[in-house]
Amino acid sequence: MQRWDVVVIGAGPAGLMAACGAAQRGRQVLLIEKNARPGVKISISGGGHCNLTHATDARGVAEAFGPAGRFLRSVLAVLDPPGLVEMIEAEGVPCRTEPDGKILPASDRADDVLDALLRRLSRSGATLQTSRTVIEIARDSSGFRVSTHPTPCKGAPDDCSVDSSDIETLWTDKIVLTTGGRSYPGCGTTGDGYAWAAAMGHTIQTPRPALVPITTDDAWVKSLQGITVPDMTLRVCSEGWTPSPPAPLPKGEGRNVRPVAERRGSLLFAHFGLSGPVALDLSRWVSAASRGHRPVLVCDFLPQLSDAALDAALAEAAAGEGRRLAASLLTHWLPGRLADALYQLAGLPPERRGAELTRSERLRLVRAVKHAAIATTGTLGFEKAEVTAGGISLDEIDSRSMQSKLVPGLFLAGELLDLDGPIGGFNLQAAFSTGHLAGQRV
Ligand SMILES: Cc1cc2nc3c(=O)[nH]c(=O)nc-3n(C[C@H](O)[C@H](O)[C@H](O)COP(=O)(O)OP(=O)(O)OC[C@H]3O[C@@H](n4cnc5c(N)ncnc54)[C@H](O)[C@@H]3O)c2cc1C
Repeated sequence: MQRWDVVVIGAGPAGLMAACGAAQRGRQVLLIEKNARPGVKISISGGGHCNLTHATDARGVAEAFGPAGRFLRSVLAVLDPPGLVEMIEAEGVPCRTEPDGKILPASDRADDVLDALLRRLSRSGATLQTSRTVIEIARDSSGFRVSTHPTPCKGAPDDCSVDSSDIETLWTDKIVLTTGGRSYPGCGTTGDGYAWAAAMGHTIQTPRPALVPITTDDAWVKSLQGITVPDMTLRVCSEGWTPSPPAPLPKGEGRNVRPVAERRGSLLFAHFGLSGPVALDLSRWVSAASRGHRPVLVCDFLPQLSDAALDAALAEAAAGEGRRLAASLLTHWLPGRLADALYQLAGLPPERRGAELTRSERLRLVRAVKHAAIATTGTLGFEKAEVTAGGISLDEIDSRSMQSKLVPGLFLAGELLDLDGPIGGFNLQAAFSTGHLAGQRV
């Protein structure tokens, strides 16, 4: 029976960093991956370009994670975004920064980043075992017992099924658990680590999809399929608030609309609802809502104009182009189909001319443009979620080492933790940094 100093389970960015760091420090390390290839999510990240981090410092990353970012402060002190970029560039993979702060390999090839990590791993002396699935972890007085079997083929026919004689058991002093979350389960991330961590006493904050498209039954949203609005503000409003159609705002404008979170940026209308960066970033709040209390999204399609400024601009346009159909006035600022949909949402008569618009009708139009409400029905779920929100409770992990506070010898890193960040390279940075720290301390 082979005994290892360290077994790392899951060869994503966190596991690759942890295994490499531990082996560089002289530990005998086995890295086990259920897929035939390590780092599958690195390969598909950023649409195959890999947005590996963000042009900011440790503080900027921590802030992007909200309250959970406090946990990351000591983690990022060991590997921050400039440190990560330096590490990847030292492997002959130059990086470039996009105007919005995203950092990618200059080649735009995600596999260049993965290859850089695999070169480091190979030099470190760690052993990588692929196509093996860990099925059980047990702890005893001398360390941990880990059982694995060959990963069954996808859609396994009988001749591919696992026989009990295929199960292998190995022993290790320490474990680094980096099995990721539950998003994109086809990548091997089926949430296996949660059950083992829970069995060892850890609290699991309910995993839920994040960075995922949002669904709605609102017909006006679906009718806009294919339209992108490059600069708008989207707000998630508290549960229990329901819009009263056709007026896009309830009585007492703004009073009972309590924004939980808001993002400004690009929105894409789709046949199921909403996608694009602002929708993805806010999806964690939609998937967090309890059943029967779906949050409402409020859209401001012209965030650069106040309500009063838009009203004045509409009044001026209506006066100058009084014979024009009122419905077309909004095309000064918005794509035609969106302008039409918002005019209808405002409940105004289609035949109305600009000069005939009353002040109260103009205000309804302003409300539709700057406060259009969308009733969400959920998200597209883990299948389409780029990350998993929820996971192993951060209170139970020492952020200076990534070691469990409950189980000595157990280290945890990456998306398995109760950490999820916005779009922009933050999630990979968190996986790289937590994995790196675990590798330095295990
Ligand atoms: C489509 C897509 C695009 C993304 N793009 C970006 C981006 O551009 N920038 C960014 O910052 N983030 C991006 N992300 C998120 C990012 O990829 C993840 O946050 C990150 O990969 C998490 O790293 P991890 O090491 O914790 O887990 P993972 O990368 O999920 O790796 C976990 C590994 O553990 C293995 N495993 C699981 N269970 C077992 C088991 N029982 N036995 C053995 N092995 C096991 C899995 O097969 C997997 O390889 C994207 C995600 C997706 C799905």
